[in-house]
Amino acid sequence: MVPVANALQAVRERIARAARAAGRDPGEVTLLAVSKTFPSAVIRAAYAAGQRDFGENYVQEGAAKRADLAGLPGLRLVLVGPLQGNKARAAAETFDAVESVDRLKIAQRLSALRPEGGPPLEVLVQVNISGEASKSGCGPADAAALAAAVARLPRLAFRGFMGIAEPTDDPALQRSQFARLRRCRDEARSAGIDAPVLSMGMTGDLEAAIAEGATEVRVGTAIFGARAPRGTAPA
Ligand SMILES: *Cc1c(COP(=O)(O)O)cnc(C)c1O
Repeated sequence: MVPVANALQAVRERIARAARAAGRDPGEVTLLAVSKTFPSAVIRAAYAAGQRDFGENYVQEGAAKRADLAGLPGLRLVLVGPLQGNKARAAAETFDAVESVDRLKIAQRLSALRPEGGPPLEVLVQVNISGEASKSGCGPADAAALAAAVARLPRLAFRGFMGIAEPTDDPALQRSQFARLRRCRDEARSAGIDAPVLSMGMTGDLEAAIAEGATEVRVGTAIFGARAPRGTAPA
């Protein structure tokens, strides 16, 4: 297995190449290392290699890792997976950011449950840019209005939008879906809502996302290797 530090370096170089190819400053694109299903020891190894932002899909798994990793300065844990209402309290207590807010009701719960005394919870509005019925996210036409409502909630800090393109090898299709997320950001801005973050692009399509303006890419497989299917014992 490639050590995590080498894989991280290779992904950072991929990001920098894609940014330069798009005429962008590589420093504009941050890397969220999606560590879902991998144990805390692997996160520690990536942290030792300078990585600070980690993405998790499941609230309970994130909470367990938060406890394991207490005391690592600057470590950020970010929820990227779908969020059910009954997990809102644990999510509000565990994560620095939630990227999967796709309805006002869950945003209201996160705001009400975010502990006082700490920073507000950063949130992204997830938009269904692929149009696949199986995917979470609000419809693109509703994104700016949802962003405006989320931005008014007291214990949340609205930061932008997240989207997942459909799995395809066609770069033109990837780019058209990522462009849709960028237009959501532009629509929000026209309505006076600041939305600096565009979280889009994963192992298979980060170049297309960066070409369309991603400010954050969420990469799992290229850093940590293939994941065991859900429900099987972790390796
Ligand atoms: C798992 C996951 C990723 C990472 O996907 P890879 O293809 O392994 O890079 C990114 N975003 C979300 C929302 C995910 O669930």
